[in-house]
Amino acid sequence: MSLAREAVELLVQAARAWYFEGNQHGLRDREWMALRFLARANRFSRTPSALAGFIGATRATASQIVKTLESKSFLERKPSHEDKRSVVLHVTTQGEKCLNQHDPINHVLNAVAALGTDECMRLRDSLTKILNHLDATHQRLNASICRDCMFLAERGPVTGKARANAEFMCRLYRAPVSLEETELLCTSFERTRDRPKIEEHLDRARVASQG
Ligand code: SF4
Repeated sequence: MSLAREAVELLVQAARAWYFEGNQHGLRDREWMALRFLARANRFSRTPSALAGFIGATRATASQIVKTLESKSFLERKPSHEDKRSVVLHVTTQGEKCLNQHDPINHVLNAVAALGTDECMRLRDSLTKILNHLDATHQRLNASICRDCMFLAERGPVTGKARANAEFMCRLYRAPVSLEETELLCTSFERTRDRPKIEEHLDRARVASQG
């Protein structure tokens, strides 16, 4: 148990590394969190209500954060392709640039990347297991990567108006999901252990990109 305690204490110290009071480069902690999330979220989760759920805020607070990010030209709203009455939030090129240059978690990101691929994967898997053990009421941030979701299914040949490069289907939203989108965060995620096919697709994509 003392080893577990030591590990948790280190985890808490690591979390403190990106916590700050006030603002950094003109954004407060929650505004950075929102911008970071929206840059990594899929099209179903880039909405004001999904953002509110992710950052653990009310809709009013999330709307205020969206307005702040829009006023700095880091974010813009576009009508949803799926539902014309809804809007989807898009991080602008300026927003991406700001994240790349000034995101307060960048130094932690660099330190983790310096561990190397194998250790990085072990760390990711350990943290995933820890989060899976915590019950939902203890998990404040509820989003994960689409490729691990129980609603993701393979689809047959693409026809009609479906997106040309779609290879998967979300059974929850009944919408096509491309291979690239399976790497994005989703707030409707439900974990599954049964996903043998997606690994084959990812391997194929990696080999193709290597040339
Ligand atoms: S498959 Fe799951 S994670 Fe992916 S879009 Fe659907 S609900 Fe979200």
